[in-house]
Amino acid sequence: PEMENGVRMFTKSHKLDNVLYDVRGPVLDEANRMEDQGVHVLKLNIGNPAPFGFRTPDEVVKDMQDQLRDCEGYSDSRGLFSARKAIMQYDQLKGIPNVDVEDIYTGNGASELINLAMSAFLDDGDEILIPSPDYPLWTASATLAGGRVIHYVCDEQANWYPDIDDIRSKITPRTKGIVIINPNNPTGALYPKEVLEEIVQVAREHQLVIFSDEIYDRLVMDGKEHVSIASLAPDLFCITFNGLSKSHMIAGYRIGWMSLSGNKRIARDLIDGINMLSNMRLCSNVPAQSVVQTCLGGIQRAKNYLVPGGRIYDQREYVYDRLSQMEGVTVNKPDAAFYMFPRLDPQKFNIRDDDQFALDLLKEKHVLIVGGKGFNWMTPGYFRVVYLPRMHTLEDAMDNLEDFLRYYRQ
Ligand code: PLP
Repeated sequence: PEMENGVRMFTKSHKLDNVLYDVRGPVLDEANRMEDQGVHVLKLNIGNPAPFGFRTPDEVVKDMQDQLRDCEGYSDSRGLFSARKAIMQYDQLKGIPNVDVEDIYTGNGASELINLAMSAFLDDGDEILIPSPDYPLWTASATLAGGRVIHYVCDEQANWYPDIDDIRSKITPRTKGIVIINPNNPTGALYPKEVLEEIVQVAREHQLVIFSDEIYDRLVMDGKEHVSIASLAPDLFCITFNGLSKSHMIAGYRIGWMSLSGNKRIARDLIDGINMLSNMRLCSNVPAQSVVQTCLGGIQRAKNYLVPGGRIYDQREYVYDRLSQMEGVTVNKPDAAFYMFPRLDPQKFNIRDDDQFALDLLKEKHVLIVGGKGFNWMTPGYFRVVYLPRMHTLEDAMDNLEDFLRYYRQ
């Protein structure tokens, strides 16, 4: 054991050596310290709708209250029958093929299942293709599971769609699977069917499993439609991840799910492993499962936020206009979710360290964002903005950011 002056020191497991999860990292710690000292921090850093006044419909809370007494025990490890039936119908409406009630697993958020799926799937050294930028839980979970994460790039010049040539160039005999995040966090991109078809084609040629994170699929704007990649791949084995954290603004209840679809025969043994890990965690939070049916079949209030006059839509327009007008800033207009991923002109700002940029902005202007590096995006000078806070907060944050960028150089 490691010793310090004769005392045994406890170090973290080496499994964590290459694991990175900075969305809640050191810059947030500093923001919390500042808040403790009474500083008002403008928080554009986390995709958690409820604190910004986005409320779940009353019928959902009422439903949970009514059912609490029946939720005292463990459920089936995959989840309540009613919840899984409702999810099954949702998947059918999205054209996801060959999903039965036993192919659906509820989790304490999609997060738990992302972790579980990576653990079940990856052997030490197996390669998995994950987008860059990504929602960093994917890279962290795959790495923790012993996998070798190979990042493929999403192309800023092409609306942040996955670069198919880059995907192809990164496939090796050890590649087992590909992850897509659609709609995307942190870019807000929504992938058109043609792009998805190309990804399916690559997965088909190389016999890969497709993992699709679709937690923002009900937060799409401008009349666009979300296509589930699994609906285009009946001959492949796909796992689709979704949940209610974002669509019903109940991130704190912790309820998500994954659906196995398509060619399940080729994944018999993998499914065995998934079942074992699912059994080992007994079941997900049962009160939260009990509202799935009411959420999916009831009022879809998020829709009202996503059209002109709705908060998410209007706030997107505002933040997009403000960022686009700032000198040296370029940004793609997102189609979905509630994020933007702007770029600072390297000629002008010379950003070398995203964390330093985030920290300087926080300390000087009290605006909290997450640097691009936190999303496994290795070119410095990018950052993610969450445009969920109320308009007056966004106004102050944009004013402060604009001021800051007038003089900031690294
Ligand atoms: N996937 C993506 C792309 C996310 O952005 C998030 C949360 O921010 C999650 C998964 C986790 O969601 P859940 O609350 O269901 O664990």
